[in-house]
Amino acid sequence: MILTGLMQNKPLLISGLLRHAATYHPDVEIVSCLHGGEMRRSNWATVARRAGRVAARLGELGLAPGDRVATLAWNTDRHLELYYAVAGTGAVLHTVNPRLFPEQIAYIINHAADGIVFFDLDFAELVVRLAPQLTTVHRFVALCRPDQLPALDLPGLVSYETLVDEGRDDYDWPEFDENAASSMCYTSGTTGNPKGVLYSHRSTLLHSFAACAADGLALTARDCVLLAVPMFHVNAWGVPYAAAMCGARLVLPGSGLGGDRLFAHLRDEGCTLSLGVPTVWLGLFQYLEQAGASVDASALRLQRVVIGGSAAPRAIIEKFERLLGVFVIQAWGMTETSPLATIANLLPKHDGAPLEARFAVQSRQGRAIFGVEVGVFDADGRRLPHDGKSVGEIRVRGPWVLSGYYGNPPDSALDDDGWFSTGDVAFIDADGYVQITDRSKDVIKSGGEWISSIDLENAAMGHPQVREAAVIGVPHSRWQERPLLIVVPKPDAVIDRAGLLDFLAARVARWWLPDDVVFVDDLPHTATGKLLKTRLRDDFRGYRLPTDTD
Ligand code: AMP
Repeated sequence: MILTGLMQNKPLLISGLLRHAATYHPDVEIVSCLHGGEMRRSNWATVARRAGRVAARLGELGLAPGDRVATLAWNTDRHLELYYAVAGTGAVLHTVNPRLFPEQIAYIINHAADGIVFFDLDFAELVVRLAPQLTTVHRFVALCRPDQLPALDLPGLVSYETLVDEGRDDYDWPEFDENAASSMCYTSGTTGNPKGVLYSHRSTLLHSFAACAADGLALTARDCVLLAVPMFHVNAWGVPYAAAMCGARLVLPGSGLGGDRLFAHLRDEGCTLSLGVPTVWLGLFQYLEQAGASVDASALRLQRVVIGGSAAPRAIIEKFERLLGVFVIQAWGMTETSPLATIANLLPKHDGAPLEARFAVQSRQGRAIFGVEVGVFDADGRRLPHDGKSVGEIRVRGPWVLSGYYGNPPDSALDDDGWFSTGDVAFIDADGYVQITDRSKDVIKSGGEWISSIDLENAAMGHPQVREAAVIGVPHSRWQERPLLIVVPKPDAVIDRAGLLDFLAARVARWWLPDDVVFVDDLPHTATGKLLKTRLRDDFRGYRLPTDTD
């Protein structure tokens, strides 16, 4: 018979992180970049006090455990406070990606049945436009001071600072089951409507331990972190929580992720660690190259940069090392994995390895961190060996991997053995490093955001002179991937690239527009008549888009 251990069964709660940071790292700064470049300086004690006030006030306004609260917000201390204030009460923080199409935003807010929407003033117009469609929202809170509150026609509109002022200082964070939901993010990296991923307090804390672990991201109290990944992308990769766990200093860049702004923050705040998608870092190097001798890169204290969201180009890994002496840590994961799953740290065997060999290791997506099992499987569901050549789909399982999408039953996203299929295709080498080789999901990732190839194909098929259309992602040096439209025209059609793009421009967002159009006589299909995208991707491997000028 199992003998139950006699250790305290304290639930792992997000409020505990904030209490810890406020007690042991009260003066550690949280720096936010506001509109116009002004920097606001807060600290963990202030974030904790204000989060408690907001939590108290939200309770008085009727927020109950399990209720969903949306944010449409940049990286700032106020957004950080909401991460803690909402989850700490037992409610759920739903960080909405403002880059989604307005219809998608309305869909996910309605699907999550959010009751309150917090928004940065940049999104005021969007929110006013969406409000009539948001059937469950009864209150809007603008992330500003009362004197900045615009006169908008929105139910229950109030400024965030009013909520803070009206809150009490003696709020007691409640204790509840650690499996309670704490936050949610919708992913559009799948086909069909965006799907909700619901994180728990327990999954969030376990993920934070992994982020702080030395072979995780090694986040410590000695770090100053520039958070260049948006707080609406998978909880900013868990850093807002992990930073409280270890008492790291945070620099939150607001909406400004341009190379000039990032460089200024890194230099002026003495940042030691930063995280972001590859496009962000390409922007930094473009700025440094253009600025030339006028900037002093030796003024940086930066030591590590975490790159994820898309494959880290080797050229960036090399530039960071050779130009700035910075070690790049590539990480792989997804909204469904909280996101950290594999991290490309080094092993003892790489000590003293030539730089070229080390870059090759860093160019892989990394090794599984404890907590996430990672395997590659063939089409028949057989697990493949870690031999550096057997290619299959990545499946993952572990306590911070999703079990079912929001609204679906637990475990409904898993196979019989509890694995979640990621749609990424890879091999794993003998040291356990994952190398992604392809993606089976039919979406394109451009600069960290998803484009649905199926939606683009449907839009193109709506053209009266198109018989069939396929869209695939093609490598792009700035955006990692951009869409290429491949079209079979109807017989005798008179149709050209410009006409087709004009047609699409009226139907999809500008940043979704394909970078090129190719006309062909036919497209490859599977035995069941589906487009054979793998063949198309092979056929167009090496295709150079006209927009790729590097
Ligand atoms: P998201 O759910 O939006 O965070 O996207 C997750 C997806 O981004 C993964 O399934 C991969 O397709 C891709 N991805 C994330 N990190 C990497 C990486 N380091 N290398 C290649 N692809 C990545």
